[in-house]
Amino acid sequence: MGSDEALEVLRRVFGYDAFRGRQQDIIEHVIGGGDALVLMPTGGGKSLCYQIPALVRDGTAVVVSPLIALMQDQVDALTALGVRAGFVNSTLDYDSRRAVEAQFVGGDLDLLYLAPEALATSSTLRLLERGRIGLFAIDEAHCVSQWGHDFRPDYLNLSMLHERWPDVPRIALTATATTATHKEIATRLGLTDARHFVSSFDRPNIQYRIVAKQDPRRQLLDLLRTEHRDDAGIVYCLSRASVEKIADFLKDNGIPALPYHAGLDARTRADNQSRFLREDGLVMVATIAFGMGIDKPDVRFVAHLDLPKSVEGYYQETGRAGRDGLPSTAWLAYGLQDVVQQRKLIDGSEGDAAHRRGLAQHLDAMLALCETVECRRVQLLAYFGEQSGPCGNCDTCLSPPESWDGTVAAQKLLSTVYRLHKERNQKFGAGQCIDILLGKKTDKVVQWHHDELTVFGVGADLREADWRAVIRQLLAQGLLAVEGDYGTLVLTEASGEVLGRHRQVMLRREPERPVSAAKTAKVAKQRSAASASAELSPEATELFERLRAWRAATAKELSVPAY
Ligand code: ADP
Ligand code: MG
Ligand code: ZN
Repeated sequence: MGSDEALEVLRRVFGYDAFRGRQQDIIEHVIGGGDALVLMPTGGGKSLCYQIPALVRDGTAVVVSPLIALMQDQVDALTALGVRAGFVNSTLDYDSRRAVEAQFVGGDLDLLYLAPEALATSSTLRLLERGRIGLFAIDEAHCVSQWGHDFRPDYLNLSMLHERWPDVPRIALTATATTATHKEIATRLGLTDARHFVSSFDRPNIQYRIVAKQDPRRQLLDLLRTEHRDDAGIVYCLSRASVEKIADFLKDNGIPALPYHAGLDARTRADNQSRFLREDGLVMVATIAFGMGIDKPDVRFVAHLDLPKSVEGYYQETGRAGRDGLPSTAWLAYGLQDVVQQRKLIDGSEGDAAHRRGLAQHLDAMLALCETVECRRVQLLAYFGEQSGPCGNCDTCLSPPESWDGTVAAQKLLSTVYRLHKERNQKFGAGQCIDILLGKKTDKVVQWHHDELTVFGVGADLREADWRAVIRQLLAQGLLAVEGDYGTLVLTEASGEVLGRHRQVMLRREPERPVSAAKTAKVAKQRSAASASAELSPEATELFERLRAWRAATAKELSVPAY
């Protein structure tokens, strides 16, 4: 049944020829009254998975979405297609709200968008009792996860929908796909009988590149000038202050850039967002407050000037590039200071030790991605439980980093930390340790008599940048740690194996020449074949779980960060 009708609605109402990926299966399942949990990458086309059932099934589809700022846009877009849609949230004035309510109660709405906090109020619940509901859609369902940075406490209430309306099917959708988040969503929303639709998370048209931070503004400017002239893109920064500074810097250099962060007033934010969506070739410089639910198909690059807190976050943010399937760049510049800063944030974060441990594990996985000598995509997909071969369209594939035996360098660095600590009961940050190794008689070195240490000057065979890379990688491999407000270096248990000469340390040498644009286009073309999608069978899920457990155990043995 539903199949022909769904296709007919796709063509007549939305004007598309064919379904993408698993859309058709999902839509038919939901039209038939089944519950569904949909994991599909950003830009995969999740909205149609509930919008078409909303049109085919009797009654109104109630859509829960955290994106209040976008509800108006979504409803306008649907209305333009002749779909009867409305929304209720805090931005609505009394009269408009009454009008939408009357439409809903009168059975004149196909879709009603609600903010999650609205569902916590008894007036909204009374309203819902008075209409006829054909479907519940829970968009951005990862907001129920307490680990993610998008956590919304009101999402925890949503399990009550099923208790109050046991016969109404539910569909939950998200682009966040680690096994842990996936399970957490199913549990917290009480989706016990839901069918799980898991699409491949590969985005073959996105080229992943991670470079060592030297002069990040210059590096960004080079990227934009040489490869992304006149392109629309997003530049992510950690703080509001750096958003402002980078936006100004780009403007000063002739690149049209707009700032976006939570400290700007609502009006400016809305203006900048709508200019970014409607005009061509604008660069949005933003904190992670920007981007969720934004549907702009031709974002050609996403650049990160600060290290994301987790692979999930990185994947979500980079996923905003290239929704149109054309070649796009995900570029991240990261340095030692990022690691120090992130550790500091974790140490100072609220919550108990377990929470901090969780954050630290997320950061470790992100560091491992940054410092890998393997294909970035293989690592990234493995993190989401997918296996794949080298992609040919990431920096490590295009310009494989050499690895070198860094055992001696690691021993020099670790013994500097050891000597400062054991012989002098002192702890210092990376800068001082590097000065000691290089044999630089800075004021601070002289003041602390560090030129009298036996390790003074033993590292003059490497450059400062090399030492920074050594330290970053030792941190990523768990052979060194940073602590405290000043990011002082401290040894880990595993450091002892290196110092005791029981362990070889292989390090990554940065490629001399960065990946070029010409290579990019060619490879992206070769890989433009549609990415495969697959619903995981219980056997496959179990296999992935076993692999993950094995990886974690091995990682522990080798004391490298586990996923
Ligand atoms: P998601 O919510 O998964 O990030 P959206 O639902 O916003 O993705 O869809 C992303 C884009 O893909 C939209 O512009 C949408 O109109 C388009 N799209 C979705 N399904 C199809 C389809 N079957 N054919 C063509 N375009 C589609
Ligand atoms: Mg969406
Ligand atoms: Zn690759």
